[in-house]
Amino acid sequence: MALPGDPDRTGRRPAGSRWLLAKQRQPRTPGAQPEAAPRHPALQDVSQFMVLEREVEIQFRPRMREALQDKVDAVADSLRDQTPVCSRCNQPMKRHDIETVSWLARCGRLRAAVTRYRCPACKDERRPLLELLGVEPGRISGSLARLLALLAVVAPYPLAAQLAGLLLGVKISPMGVWKVAQRLGEPAARYSEGLSQYHADSRSEGASTREAPPAVVLSVDGSMLGMQVRKQRRRRQEGKTLPPLPPVKEGQFQEVKTGVLLLPSERVETSPGRHSVVRRFLVSCLGNADTIFARLYAQVRELGWVGPDTVVVIVGDGAEWIWNRATMFVRRCEILDFWHVLEHAWGFARLNYGEGSKQADRWVHRIAKDLRAGKVDDVIARLKRLRPKTPEAREKLQGLIAYYSAHAGRMRYDEYLRLGYGIGSGAVESAHKQVVHARFRQAGMRWSEAGARRLLALRLLLLNDNWTLLDRLPMVSVA
Ligand SMILES: [Zn+2]
Repeated sequence: MALPGDPDRTGRRPAGSRWLLAKQRQPRTPGAQPEAAPRHPALQDVSQFMVLEREVEIQFRPRMREALQDKVDAVADSLRDQTPVCSRCNQPMKRHDIETVSWLARCGRLRAAVTRYRCPACKDERRPLLELLGVEPGRISGSLARLLALLAVVAPYPLAAQLAGLLLGVKISPMGVWKVAQRLGEPAARYSEGLSQYHADSRSEGASTREAPPAVVLSVDGSMLGMQVRKQRRRRQEGKTLPPLPPVKEGQFQEVKTGVLLLPSERVETSPGRHSVVRRFLVSCLGNADTIFARLYAQVRELGWVGPDTVVVIVGDGAEWIWNRATMFVRRCEILDFWHVLEHAWGFARLNYGEGSKQADRWVHRIAKDLRAGKVDDVIARLKRLRPKTPEAREKLQGLIAYYSAHAGRMRYDEYLRLGYGIGSGAVESAHKQVVHARFRQAGMRWSEAGARRLLALRLLLLNDNWTLLDRLPMVSVA
């Protein structure tokens, strides 16, 4: 449809059109044009639908709380005439007192009159109603606690608190979110540590290995976390601000390691050159090489992934601690990460042929091609025939020859590619960044050992798509 002022089909403009008037009022000469005052961008009213949604939320939240309270009361009634037995001596306990307690849930505060029983002999106490409900008096409990922990796992505590307000309509301080994360992170950490201990004992049973895959890829990566200087949390005194923290010094870091387990058969090429895996299992912990390998071993046993014929493919960057522990798997294939191998070649090429030179580029590409073809012995022989001009380059070359010679048995890349094992540790490097860097290594973050350990355990539940496990772990009180 032609609008007024549009040129007609002949290209002429209708006389007296608005276009013409506008043209006359605002001549095109640059500079002479008076600048219109800027207009503040306009906002529209909140949409009617959102107003309705919020009305219903406000109206029904108290009703939900009432309905939930009725159900809690019914559970309390069902326990009224039951006397619990002492968990130590198995004798019936005596009614001690009744206390009214409350706790916070998604729809508000709930209350219950809780009977406390005591064993006259052992002095043990039990509150069967709270045990049955799995709530802690005075605390955020139930699904709200799990949701807050979920926010803490993906965002720093202040941001998590803000998200809680926007997503759940719950007003909570960053410290409140922190507390919930501690109380759920502790059982999550204990559970994964318990699994390690359980599977470390030869009498423990793993999952069935009847459907164990022919090969499992395992790799490990690590990085440093900035740790808090003080063991105790600093407390702000009334009206005073805390002095700034001193800069993190050497030794105030702690290594955190991540291990990845995946099945080479489940690797898919999402787009040319980009690979991803359908499933992968991550384990992560603060601690040494033995700890992470114990975790990996436990996870493999839980999954039933290593049967008598399974080859465990271990991809590493040349760090001895990985190869030393790889021996725990009898049927194994050790692979030196291809990209680390090339990085060493680049180090020499840059020194010998010049930074950014075509020659360096060609030289490294030929090495890469030959190594992929499985010609590691040829490559080493060729390196030995080189005669670099400078002492630095000679030294670098010796280092390169030593590195390739020491690991030649882990550089049969043609074979690994043919078997579909892959040749790089990219999967673990990206996994480690996802587990650790994305949450634990943001600007200025410092961690206590307990805080990092608990949050790591929670984050792994989410990244391993195992978050619902948290429904089956009891919240614990932490100091
Ligand atoms: Zn007793």
